[in-house]
Amino acid sequence: MSVQQKLVDPEGLGKQGGGWRGFVTHVLASIKISGDQLVDVLVPFWHTVHIRRHAAAVTISRVQLLAAMFAVLVPLCSLLDWMVFPWPQWAMMTIMRVISGAIFLALAWPWNFAKTKLQADAMLFAMLLVPPVFYLVSIFITQGVEFDTFGTLVVRLYGLMPNIVLAGLAVFPLTALEVLVFSIPAFVFAVVGLLMEGQVLSLEHHGPMLWLMVLVMGVAMFSGMSQMHYMAALVHRAMVDPLTGAYTRRSGAETLELQFRLAALQNAPVSVAFFDLDHFKSINDSYGHEEGDKALRALAGHLKDGLRRGDALVRWGGEEFIAIMNNTDPEGARIGVQRLRAAGFGIRPDGTPLTASIGVAERKADGVLDWPSMIELADKRMYDAKKGGRDRAVMPDGEVLVFGGR
Ligand code: GH3
Ligand code: MG
Ligand code: MG
Repeated sequence: MSVQQKLVDPEGLGKQGGGWRGFVTHVLASIKISGDQLVDVLVPFWHTVHIRRHAAAVTISRVQLLAAMFAVLVPLCSLLDWMVFPWPQWAMMTIMRVISGAIFLALAWPWNFAKTKLQADAMLFAMLLVPPVFYLVSIFITQGVEFDTFGTLVVRLYGLMPNIVLAGLAVFPLTALEVLVFSIPAFVFAVVGLLMEGQVLSLEHHGPMLWLMVLVMGVAMFSGMSQMHYMAALVHRAMVDPLTGAYTRRSGAETLELQFRLAALQNAPVSVAFFDLDHFKSINDSYGHEEGDKALRALAGHLKDGLRRGDALVRWGGEEFIAIMNNTDPEGARIGVQRLRAAGFGIRPDGTPLTASIGVAERKADGVLDWPSMIELADKRMYDAKKGGRDRAVMPDGEVLVFGGR
């Protein structure tokens, strides 16, 4: 598939073929998902910082929108309580509605905070707890009160609160595990509510209700997972260079900023290696741009394969790449660079190996205070490697690892 085709039809959906095979491909096309992507919609443990940050931002903005709506609607529904409940029940219900409204208002308020995933989850959890607590307190308040038909109906409707909470989860980009965890309170409160009403739990009477709750949770889970998948795909597409699959310069800069700050906080080392292909222009000039692109893809592929899972590869410029190596001191970086070079960077169209000039910098050894200074040093050392004869790496202590050179 050519690059052009890849950009127009990134999932290759146009290539379905005919017959039953084509039919199955067509049906499964919308959930085409890789192993890693599947893991990422099931559990949140291996999400990249970018996905986590986007999920947090989306969750918080939706919690705030819903909370703002509820802050108005919940107290407004007091009108209904005044019609169906006698004194002092209607007043107690109103107090509860005002308290709930205040909690929703606090959640919707534009406080100035960091918007981490933890805060997003805490806000979501707080919002989800209000309706079930409301439900339990309403049982307590209305216990022993005689209602007419309309009143009984209203009380029964309160019993649907746990289901509303479960259905509400569908609005958020969540993994299956998160939906499961956030559903626990709804189930607990539903069962406690039944017990508080003096009912004896039985499969025959309460099975359908619990089954409905499981179904609603299942739908919310499907919705949450597909939102998570869609969001992750968009984030990925925005962050990754379509030609090489490395991070773009912009998302690379974000990653550098984050990793540098984290390393500084933990007083941990972080290394960067600046790669610039040697005599790359001559590939373009002699064999054409398509061959040049092929060489770039080969280099990026080899570098990504050689780096560890937590490391990142950034396409900094045309044929310049930066490897961000977490928790790696200069000695580790030296071993890493030697390993990458030994595995090779790919082959030039004339059959000779692709080589690069490499500059390495490290936060602690170089005593730099921000990531741009670290990149500047690595860039300067890469240039020294070029001047020194190419196909070599210049390390923070000035050591030169000579692999070859032309
Ligand atoms: P040196 O060994 O000194 O690095 O020589 P060089 O030829 O690699 O260096 P130079 O910076 O002169 O060449 C970089 C070239 O990379 C220039 C540009 O045409 C080419 N280039 C930049 N982006 C792309 C791209 O996306 N595809 C292709 N095919 N070429 C690109
Ligand atoms: Mg260059
Ligand atoms: Mg070059």
